[in-house]
Amino acid sequence: PKFVYDFTEGNKDLKDLLGGKGANLAEMTNLGLPVPPGFTITTEACRVYLESGTEPAGLRDEVSAHLDALEERMGKKLGQPDNPLLVSVRSGAKFSMPGMMDTVLNIGLSDASVAGLAAQLGDERFAWDSYRRLLQMFGKTVLGVDGELFEQALDEAKRAKGADSDLGLEAADLRRLVDDFKSIVIKEAGREFPQEPREQMDLAVRAVFESWNTDRAKLYRRQERIPGDLGTAVSVCSMVFGNLGPDSGTGVAFTRDPASGHQGVYGDYLQNAQGEDVVAGIRNTVPLAELETIDKTSYDRLMTIMETLETHYKDLCDIEFTIERGHLWMLQTRVGKRTAAAAFRIATQLVDQGLIDEAEALRRVNGAQLAQLMFPQFESSVADSPQVRRIGWGIAASPGAAVGKAVFDSYTAVKWSRSGEKVILIRRETNPDDLDGMIAAQGILTSRGGKTSHAAVVARGMGKTCVCGAEELEVDTKRRCLTAPGGVVIEEGDLISIDGSTGKVYLGEVPVVPSPVVEYFEGRLHAGAEEADELVRAVHRVMAYADRVRRLRVRANADNAQDASRARRFGAQGIGLCRTEHMFLGERRELVERLILADTDAERDGALGALLPLQKADFIELFEAMDGLPVTVRLLDPPLHEFLPDITELSVRVALAEARKDANENDLRLLQAVHKLHESNPMLGLRGVRLGLVIPGLFAMQVRAIAEAAAHRRSVKGDPRPEIMIPLVGTVQELEIVREEADRVIAEVEEATGTSLKLAIGTMIELPRAALTAGQIAECAEFFSFGTNDLTQTVWGFSRDDVEASFFTAYLEKGIFGVSPFETIDRDGVGALVRSATEAGRATRPGLKVGVCGEHGGDPESVHFFHAAGLDYVSCSPFRIPVARLEAGRAAA
Ligand code: PEP
Ligand code: MG
Repeated sequence: PKFVYDFTEGNKDLKDLLGGKGANLAEMTNLGLPVPPGFTITTEACRVYLESGTEPAGLRDEVSAHLDALEERMGKKLGQPDNPLLVSVRSGAKFSMPGMMDTVLNIGLSDASVAGLAAQLGDERFAWDSYRRLLQMFGKTVLGVDGELFEQALDEAKRAKGADSDLGLEAADLRRLVDDFKSIVIKEAGREFPQEPREQMDLAVRAVFESWNTDRAKLYRRQERIPGDLGTAVSVCSMVFGNLGPDSGTGVAFTRDPASGHQGVYGDYLQNAQGEDVVAGIRNTVPLAELETIDKTSYDRLMTIMETLETHYKDLCDIEFTIERGHLWMLQTRVGKRTAAAAFRIATQLVDQGLIDEAEALRRVNGAQLAQLMFPQFESSVADSPQVRRIGWGIAASPGAAVGKAVFDSYTAVKWSRSGEKVILIRRETNPDDLDGMIAAQGILTSRGGKTSHAAVVARGMGKTCVCGAEELEVDTKRRCLTAPGGVVIEEGDLISIDGSTGKVYLGEVPVVPSPVVEYFEGRLHAGAEEADELVRAVHRVMAYADRVRRLRVRANADNAQDASRARRFGAQGIGLCRTEHMFLGERRELVERLILADTDAERDGALGALLPLQKADFIELFEAMDGLPVTVRLLDPPLHEFLPDITELSVRVALAEARKDANENDLRLLQAVHKLHESNPMLGLRGVRLGLVIPGLFAMQVRAIAEAAAHRRSVKGDPRPEIMIPLVGTVQELEIVREEADRVIAEVEEATGTSLKLAIGTMIELPRAALTAGQIAECAEFFSFGTNDLTQTVWGFSRDDVEASFFTAYLEKGIFGVSPFETIDRDGVGALVRSATEAGRATRPGLKVGVCGEHGGDPESVHFFHAAGLDYVSCSPFRIPVARLEAGRAAA
C-alpha cells in the first residue's frame, strides 16, 4: 500500500487514511488556498507500527521520496546548515482528539543550522528561541523527559534576567538556555539530543504514532466512543512562523459563532506567537476582529478564504492560521465542533441559504444535542437579581447550568464525585491531564484562555458546561481557593454556580428553570411567538422535517394521565407500555396484600373486587388522555414480594411482638406469605404471565377493568384504543391459556355493555425462548413488543439491577463493550434476536405490528437499529420522545 500522500494528492474524504487534519490540508491545497507544502503519513502506517512495533517496510523510502520532492519545491534541504528547511510533525486522527496526541515543531534545527536560520530570517534571537522550543518539545514528547524540568529552567532564566515573560530573554540568554536544555536531555533521557535532521523527523513520527496509546488519549476515546484501533496519521508540514515579530502572529477562526451559530467574525488572534500558545490559552488573545486594524491585507484575505471554505464544506468550519511577516498561511481547517443550540440554528440557516437540503439538515443535528437543549437553565430573574452575587463573567464556552462544590484539581474532582458530590472543576487553564476531572465535574471554570482553549474545546465536545477566561478571578490551585473582585474568597468545597450559556459565575446555588425548548414541546411557547427565539424556531423546523420523513412511530411509556398528556404534547403517537404495577402502589398496597393473603375464593374475590373499580378509573383517565391513540396496557408483571413489607423489618416487628406476647394474627400470616414469596432471584421467579397463571382472577380482573373502561369511554363518545399485553411469555401455551380467559372476559363486557370493543391481545418478547419461538407465539399474539430490558438481561445473563454498579465499569475499561448493553442495544446478540423474531412473527402473521418498549426505545443509536430492523414503533419515557422522533427522522433521511 501507499503510506505517504503529498498534500496535493489527498482530499477531504480520505479521513480514514489521512486523518482529519491531513485530509483537510489536502483539500485546502487543492482549493488553491495558501497551505505550507507537506505530506501525510497514513493511519495504516501507524496501525502497522502499533501492531508490530516497527515501521512498515517501504515507509522509509516513501518518506524519503516525498521529502526530496518537498525540498526541491522549497529550494532548501531539511536542516541544511546555511538555509534550513524546518518542518512540523503533527498528529491527526480520523476523529478530532484535541490536544490528546503529540506534535513537534521546528524539526531540522540543530547546532549546525541554528545560525543558518538566524541568517535566513535575519533574527538571531528568533533562531535560538526556535531551537529552545524544539529541544523542549522533542525532549518532552519524543524522549519522554518531564516537561516541568524545562519549564523550571525557563523560569530560572527569566528570573535571572528579571524578565516577566520569555519575550524578555535575548539571544544570548536563549543560547544558554539551549545548553541547559541539552544537559537536561542527556541527564534525563540518557542520550544526546539528535543533531541529524532526518533522525529527528523519524523519531518524531514514531513518537506521534505512539501518542495514540497514551492514557489520556485512551480515556478521551472511551469518553467520545472513538474506536481504539484507528491509529493516527502524521502530517509533515513545512514550518511557517507566527513569532517573527509584530507583523506575524497566529490565530483560530470560526466561519460562524460555534456557540450561537450566527455568522460573523469569530476567533482569537495572538500577535507574535506560535499556534501552541493560542490553543494552550497561555497568553491572552485579542478578538479576531482586531486583526483588521493590525494587518488589513491578511484580514481581508482570511475573510475571503473563510467564505470559500464555508461554501465548499457547506458547514461551519474552524480554522488555524499563521501570519508570517504579513503572509497568511492556513494550517488547519475542519468542520467545527459546535454547541447543541448552534447545531440546530446552523442547520436551518444553511437550508435557508440554499447550501443544504432538509435531509442534510437532519443529519447535521442529533438526539444527544436535542437532549442537551432540554436541560434546565438558571432562572434569570434570580440570577440577575441582587440576591445573587455574581462574582465573575467569563466566556460562555459550553452551555448549561452547573452547580457544585468548588474543587481545584482533577484528583479531588474525581474523588468527590465518586462519593456522590457535585463538583465544579476550577483551574487557571486546563490541559489534557485534567481530562478525568473534567469528566467527573458538573462544569468547568477557568480564568485563562478563549473559546478555543483546551477547556472550551474539550467541554463542548463532551456537552459539559464550561465558562473559561474569567479573568478577574484569581485562581490559586496551590492554596485551593479562588479570589473574586471585592475580596470574595471561594475555598474548596464552597458552592458555586456557572452558566455556560452566558459565561456568568455566581456565588452559592442559583435555582434552575426549564429550557425554552421544553417549554416549546410543552406547548407553552409557540415557535411563531415573538418571545420564541431563533433556537426554538430552528428546533420546530427540524422536528417538522423529522416527522415528515420518519417511518417509525413513537409512543410513550406512561402509566398515568399526567405523563400520558405530557407525552402527547411531546409528540407521542400512543402509549407503548403502561406498567400496571404502578397502579398497585401507595394505599392500594393493602388490597394487594389482602389478595396475596387470601385463603379462600371469597377472600380473593373480595380483594379483586375492591381493586377493579380503582383500576377501571385509572384506565378511563388514561384512555381519555390518549383518546384516539393506541394504549398498550401490560398486565401485572413484577414479583409479588415487591408489594409486601420488607422481610427483615417484618421479622423484627413480629419477633418483638412475640416477645411481648401480643403478636397480631395478620402480621403472622403476612410474615408467612413474605417467606413463601421471597425469591433469591426475583427476576427469574414468579412474575409476568406466571402470576396470571397461578393467581386465579388477577389477570381477569385487569382485563375486565380495561374492557369496562373502554366501554365507558365509548359511552361518552370517546375513542379508546387499548391493547392488552402479556409480559414475560416464554411459550405460546402460556399465552393461549391467558388469552382464552381474556377473550371470555372481553366478550362478557361487550355483552353486558352492548359495545363491540375489538381489543387486540399481544405479547412482550423479552425472553430468549419467546424470541426463538416467535413464529409459534405469533399465532396467538396480535402484536409483539420487545422488552429489551429483560431480553438484554436474559440473553447476557446480566442482572439488570446489579451489574451496572458492580462490574460494568471494569468491562467498559477493558473495552469489552463501549457502552452498557442496557443503554444501547447490543446489535450482534440481542439485536439479532429482535431481527429474527420480527421476521418469524411476520412469517406467521403478515403485517404483525412490532414495537419496542424497553429503555432502548429512547436511545439514539438503538432507534437507528430498530428502524433498520423494520419495527413499527419505539416506545420510551415522555422526556425522550422528542429525541426518538428526531432520531427516527434521521434514520430515515
Ligand atoms: C422490558 O423488559 O424491556 C420492559 C419494557 O419491561 P420492564 O422494564 O417493565 O421489565
Ligand atoms: Mg420486562
